[in-house]
Amino acid sequence: MRVSVVGGGVAGLTLALIMARRGHRVTLYEQQYPGWSATGKSAGIIVTVFEEDLLRHVLASLDFYHSLPGSESIVRGVDALYLHREGACVSKLLRIHESLGLGSPNHVQVDLGVDFDYGRDYYALIRTYLTDAGWTVNTLYSELLRSGGEIVDGWVERKGDSFHHQSGRLEGKIVVAAGPWTRILLPEIEDSTTIYRCQAASVEGPAPNVVIEDDALEYYLVPTTNSRFVIGDGANPIINDPIDGFTPDPEDSYDVLERYARRVPEAWESRIIQVWAAPCITTGDGLPLAGRVYDDVYVLTGFNGAGLTLAPAIARMLAAELEGKGRVPQDFSRLERPSRGVVEPYFVKC
Ligand SMILES: Cc1cc2nc3c(=O)[nH]c(=O)nc-3n(C[C@H](O)[C@H](O)[C@H](O)COP(=O)(O)OP(=O)(O)OC[C@H]3O[C@@H](n4cnc5c(N)ncnc54)[C@H](O)[C@@H]3O)c2cc1C
Repeated sequence: MRVSVVGGGVAGLTLALIMARRGHRVTLYEQQYPGWSATGKSAGIIVTVFEEDLLRHVLASLDFYHSLPGSESIVRGVDALYLHREGACVSKLLRIHESLGLGSPNHVQVDLGVDFDYGRDYYALIRTYLTDAGWTVNTLYSELLRSGGEIVDGWVERKGDSFHHQSGRLEGKIVVAAGPWTRILLPEIEDSTTIYRCQAASVEGPAPNVVIEDDALEYYLVPTTNSRFVIGDGANPIINDPIDGFTPDPEDSYDVLERYARRVPEAWESRIIQVWAAPCITTGDGLPLAGRVYDDVYVLTGFNGAGLTLAPAIARMLAAELEGKGRVPQDFSRLERPSRGVVEPYFVKC
């Protein structure tokens, strides 16, 4: 089968690689370079604080990453401190983790440098995973070429119902995995999606020895060394043009650092050294969007702040659909979504 994929982010790259590995003739079109947008700027957390159904997909993504050469030293399980306002959420998540064999770390000495003030929030130590965005893009790219796929530079445009590149009309089954630009190529999904700025910052200061996913104060933290860490948050400023997503707002990052400092006062002495941002796209119900739009045209997008976490698993289901061997479940393939806006439905509810 011939497959044309538009977009060289994690979604397009994984779908293209899966199809190429299955022996199909794959061409991927990227207007800048693979990983140029949100994918290359991601913090690399493979998030595990989801409801059971979605967590199964996370585990499928992990399997996919583990099929990549060199993953043993990059894609790794780490301990995370998970905080939530409601204790019931924490115990539910622990039950889900246990039932899926994720287990929870025992005897971890959480070293935050100061007494950690849990306040009235509840917490648990859980297992999460990290990858490296640069490694992920480079490896997907080189594996795609090694598997016989082709990567072509330049814009793809839609004219009527067909798609065109300067080299000619796109052939075969077409999968639009163009992140926030998918809305421009497929206005069919405009009413059910929203684009917003995703942002993170690199901070110099004492780093904890665990990842922190704080759903109560809404931030995440990934230690990179013992004196550096990355912080990001749940602030989702809505934008109209994807390009606006690349302009960071340092005030937001100071706000995130302040929230962390409410937990660990020592963080007041930390220094933000770099802030970066890229556009993200979400659907009205927050779940990814994958399936047929019309004729031989398919969509793969809507990964919100969790594309590295979910794209490989959803791409695998879409690959089966392209081959006529399965269907993407309705939760993900429905083009009409309840409403627009930025929601994060993934996280475990209690
Ligand atoms: C700061 C930050 C931190 C994040 N942290 C995490 C995290 O820890 N864990 C996690 O799972 N996710 C994280 N995310 C979210 C994750 O990065 C995204 O969900 C994911 O990268 C989306 O991938 P994508 O392939 O759908 O889109 P994109 O990465 O946006 O890729 C789309 C590609 O399509 C190309 N394109 C667009 N239009 C055209 C066209 N017409 N012709 C040719 N090419 C085109 C673009 O150039 C782009 O390269 C983070 C994002 C950011 C910005």
